[in-house]
Amino acid sequence: MHSLSWFLSGCVAGVTLAGLGPVCAAAAQPIRALIIDGQNNHNWKGTTPVLKKITEDTGLFQVDVITAPASGQPMGDFKPDFAKYQVVMLNYNGDEWSPALRDAFVSYMRNGGGLVVQHGSDNSFPKWPEFNEMIGVGGWGGRNEKSGPMLYWGDGKVVADNSPGPGGSHGAQTPFPVVIRNREHPITAGLPEIWMHSTDELYSKLRGPAKNLTLLATAKGDPAQGATGKDEPALMALSYGQGRVFHTTLGHDAPQLHCVGFIVTFQRGMEWAATGKVTNTAIPADFPGPDKVSLRPNL
Ligand code: ZN
Repeated sequence: MHSLSWFLSGCVAGVTLAGLGPVCAAAAQPIRALIIDGQNNHNWKGTTPVLKKITEDTGLFQVDVITAPASGQPMGDFKPDFAKYQVVMLNYNGDEWSPALRDAFVSYMRNGGGLVVQHGSDNSFPKWPEFNEMIGVGGWGGRNEKSGPMLYWGDGKVVADNSPGPGGSHGAQTPFPVVIRNREHPITAGLPEIWMHSTDELYSKLRGPAKNLTLLATAKGDPAQGATGKDEPALMALSYGQGRVFHTTLGHDAPQLHCVGFIVTFQRGMEWAATGKVTNTAIPADFPGPDKVSLRPNL
């Protein structure tokens, strides 16, 4: 069932039947989402269609894709109209945006916009302070202790580690368990405490301002495979002004996006970033268990 607010969003104000309340004269309006791609050291041409399909499969969204100019091309004419969208999903790690576009995005977020950052897009814009505040932590691109602390989970709480060193690392790709650390947030409420994620890069040593950040889930890899052995941030929710940000470090390439744990948390994260709510809280029967990966090969 859809929530009342979702249902009413498609209703025409002022049209009522005695005793029955508002009458819906049109289907509910979809949530407008924008995926930005075009530059990424990851396989954006392979992942954008999967991310779009996962989002549209909720039945809640209309998704547009805008592809930025190729790396090295002029960016001055790249001007997505953020105001048309309730959530902007970045599948982008590339050239800096124009100052005007950066300002427009900051204004969009401060005034209640939504942002979803996934895996390599948290490598973007290391020198853009507002963006780094939005995403909380990021990796590579010269990030170091001056960017902010590394975050991990220890003794039942978030630990901010100010030790010097570069931001961003990962070991070999392996399956790894994702552990929910916040059971109240709409994105993670009701999910099984642990799911086994499919073979993926486990980001670690991410650094940043880490303000207004709620750590939703962590992931820990095997030091023998190059991981830190710490419970690293995997899913995060942040606020920026009136805006909301969902940050998932999961999903290096298209195959990892077929993990049902990724799908469910990405769908919830997109909706929460757009509206502040999650309406479909059902746990699908194929949700992975603590020891068993579960994939949807045919999305
Ligand atoms: Zn990667």
